[in-house]
Amino acid sequence: MLDTLVSEMEPKANSCRRYVASLSDKVCRLRKTPTKYSPGLFQTRRGIFYTDSEELKAALSVSAKLYNFEISIKEIARNGTILELNRHVCELAEESVIGIIDGTGGQSTEFIQALCDILELPHVTIKHNDIKENSYILNLHPSSMAYDMVMKKLVARKEWEEFTILYLKGYSLIRTNSLLQLNTHNDRYVVTLRELNGNDYRDVLISAKESGYVNFVVDCPQENVPIILQHAQEVGLLADEHSYIFVSPDLFTLDLERYRYGGVNMTGLRLADFEENEDLWNFAFNFNKEFVYAHEADQLTSEILLIHDAVLIFSKATEKMKYGLKRPEGLSCENGTSWNHGSSLLNFMKTNKVEGFTRTLTFNGHGDRHNVIFDVLELTPAGNITIGTWNNNNLTISRPILAGSDIVEETIMKNRTFKVLIATSAPYGYVKESSDQLEGNDRYEGFTIDLIEKLSEILGFSYEFEVELEYGTKDPQTQKWNGMIYQLMEDKADFAICDFTITSLRQSAIDFSTPFMSLGIGILYKTPSKQPPEMFSFMAVFSKEVWYYMVLVQLGLGVIMIFVGRISHKEWQNPVPCIEQPEELTNQFSFANSVWLIIGSVMQQGSEIAPIALAPRMITSVWWFFTMVIVASYVGTLVAFLTVEKNVLPFETLEELYKQKSISYGAKSKGSTLGFFQHSPNPILAGMYKKMVDNHWLVATNDIGVAKCENETYAFFMESTSLEYYKERHCDLLQVGDSFDSKSYGIGMKKGSPYKKYIDYGLRKLKESGEIQKLKNIWWKEKRGGGKCGIKRDEEQKQLGLKNMLGAFVVLGVGCLIGLFISIIDMLWGVFKRTVKYNTTFKFELIEELKFALKFSGDTKPVKRHQKAQGSSDSLAEAEAKDEIKSLRSIKSGRSTDTNRTHHSHSSKHSGLSMAFAKRREYS
Ligand code: GLU
Repeated sequence: MLDTLVSEMEPKANSCRRYVASLSDKVCRLRKTPTKYSPGLFQTRRGIFYTDSEELKAALSVSAKLYNFEISIKEIARNGTILELNRHVCELAEESVIGIIDGTGGQSTEFIQALCDILELPHVTIKHNDIKENSYILNLHPSSMAYDMVMKKLVARKEWEEFTILYLKGYSLIRTNSLLQLNTHNDRYVVTLRELNGNDYRDVLISAKESGYVNFVVDCPQENVPIILQHAQEVGLLADEHSYIFVSPDLFTLDLERYRYGGVNMTGLRLADFEENEDLWNFAFNFNKEFVYAHEADQLTSEILLIHDAVLIFSKATEKMKYGLKRPEGLSCENGTSWNHGSSLLNFMKTNKVEGFTRTLTFNGHGDRHNVIFDVLELTPAGNITIGTWNNNNLTISRPILAGSDIVEETIMKNRTFKVLIATSAPYGYVKESSDQLEGNDRYEGFTIDLIEKLSEILGFSYEFEVELEYGTKDPQTQKWNGMIYQLMEDKADFAICDFTITSLRQSAIDFSTPFMSLGIGILYKTPSKQPPEMFSFMAVFSKEVWYYMVLVQLGLGVIMIFVGRISHKEWQNPVPCIEQPEELTNQFSFANSVWLIIGSVMQQGSEIAPIALAPRMITSVWWFFTMVIVASYVGTLVAFLTVEKNVLPFETLEELYKQKSISYGAKSKGSTLGFFQHSPNPILAGMYKKMVDNHWLVATNDIGVAKCENETYAFFMESTSLEYYKERHCDLLQVGDSFDSKSYGIGMKKGSPYKKYIDYGLRKLKESGEIQKLKNIWWKEKRGGGKCGIKRDEEQKQLGLKNMLGAFVVLGVGCLIGLFISIIDMLWGVFKRTVKYNTTFKFELIEELKFALKFSGDTKPVKRHQKAQGSSDSLAEAEAKDEIKSLRSIKSGRSTDTNRTHHSHSSKHSGLSMAFAKRREYS
């Protein structure tokens, strides 16, 4: 990541300083401009370039060209050092720059600032920072205070009393400080915090969802916003009950198309004013020429625009001060020289009011922006709309949010009768079953029938229903719409309410209200018959990786045990204790013995191998602990695996279904689900569409699709809301996999309908009061056969993965490390003793010891060693033999409990472990 972007600027001939809207004209003028200080118009860029800051560099190049400045760009990696920064700033000072534009932020900015203070060079930053001293800095990014005030007002405006602040680990919450205070100062508010960490935010978001949070303030850097949105969508946190405020001023530079129809309410800020701003559109044009990735003007981030504004304020200031400004000469960090015109230039920049792309640039004495103006934007199914402005510390929302009483008073819908189209599609609309002859609206019931009634109570209108079974498709030949859409377009009806999916194509013909329900497409399929447990189901208790790691750990531990055993002094024992001066000592930790010890404990059988020294004992203990946890977990879960019968689905994903030869599949013809397949660029979905159409697998209604599902080998693509409804009543059906796609239902009305805002208001009210959810529960779970299947328990037993067993592995690893450490100390102590005894060097003894230990072969060790210097050999060998005898005596006298069971060592001279053990008992 490019972290520092520093520029040198030098004003050029006045004739060319102004930006000319005509591009060709401008280019031509630029060519005529004489270059004063460098061979080309621009100096060559230097340093390493990181792709993700190319944007800022391109913005600087374009802006500098626009205002005739020379630039010099210095770069530093994110993990660059202060020394590098120091070098860059000092080099720039020596190059006689008149100011520094800093694209780094954070600590780097603080450091650059400290140097600029000394050099008295104007320092302009474009990133959010909180340098408070009255120094040589101009902070173009709105201050934290400005954000804080807007956030407080927005939350108040949304009437949130409970909300969650999502923030990124390592970033301060300074821009939402007042929101945090709400919690402590007022009992009315419940503010929770959720920290996003690492690259996967799904766990945090799922837990927020499970806690029932619906309102969120997202205070994260812009670069993290796309992934937060993606993960929120994946965990179902972008539905119509959810509402977000984003602190970043760049939310709406992202492509939010795929979140538009999910029903979520997203509010964000925007610094720039794109309305009729020809200069900005021209800048975007030039920027795209410089920068490889093309941006629409409204996709330019605030940082890019602030780079432009930074260059602009330098340009304006130097233009006005042209006679009084002397170029800095001979500035140097080493000599401590400073530019005595620096403070005048900075003061002029602070006080000079300039109209930039991010609106009027005025500053307070601290160099922070004064009176920042933000547009407040909202994402709606119709796209992004500006709903208000923050100006003069005031929030003005231009979209009317009328109070309940006002709306009933004011509504133009009051006392009017509307024609409402409905569909008899369960559970949205049914024809009532009654022995009486019903008339008018009484003939129908269902979710949407109740919904329109609730709306009419709020808005005071009457209605009459008309059934229309076709929702509306566009004839590709005639380009004419049919069904409900046609009726609405032709004023034959006022509203259409059913499971009417909002799609962009339909939106080109009619308007939709704010969504009242969100959904995705799911696959309905027959519950497969249960399969008996498999032959090797006992293996399924642990995931494959746990099994692999267990084998690996056992082999690794075997090697560690041998090594530790060999370097541990006490593990070398006299094989025949009755011989006081043994020729050799033996070690029980051969490969076979180590593996036997390890396997014996896994199988809970133990073994006759018992470690003597501290380090092998320590490692053996953690291994026993590890096996205890593993075996307990295994046994605890095994029963369920041996007894539970599993549903084995013939397919689990779309791709698998596509590849199946024996299963046919389909969707409702003329519905948006089929449209999803039809217009998908994905080859699998397109292939499925072709198959469904060619094989006539499509059905006219959901009911037919469900019946086919039950009676044939048929999978039915259905909207998740309807799928939920049918699953409640047809216990032999289930949804395969998760829902894909994300969209919502809305009430259809004629394009530009004057009633839309009232209907939206009514729906919002019903959503906030939980009425819609209540209606859903009634029609999905209670009426018309709801609750028949009861709660299906997820019987599938969860396999124990590495995540579950990680703790045991960690304890084992740490224990082994401690054991290794102790054994190394033990070895070094032994080496040291021998160094003294044999009068050799420590290095020599250590190498000898390690060579022997690392040979990993031979479980005997001579007591009398060959001496390096023959002269002293006898006396030394004797001394060592005495030592050994001493220790053996102590064993016999029973002083050391360590050795009571020790002499069953495995010796090459004796035929195996048990023999040695027997001998040991005999001798002792
Ligand atoms: N809700 C769909 C529509 O508006 C109909 C059902 C479907 O296509 O699955 O067209």
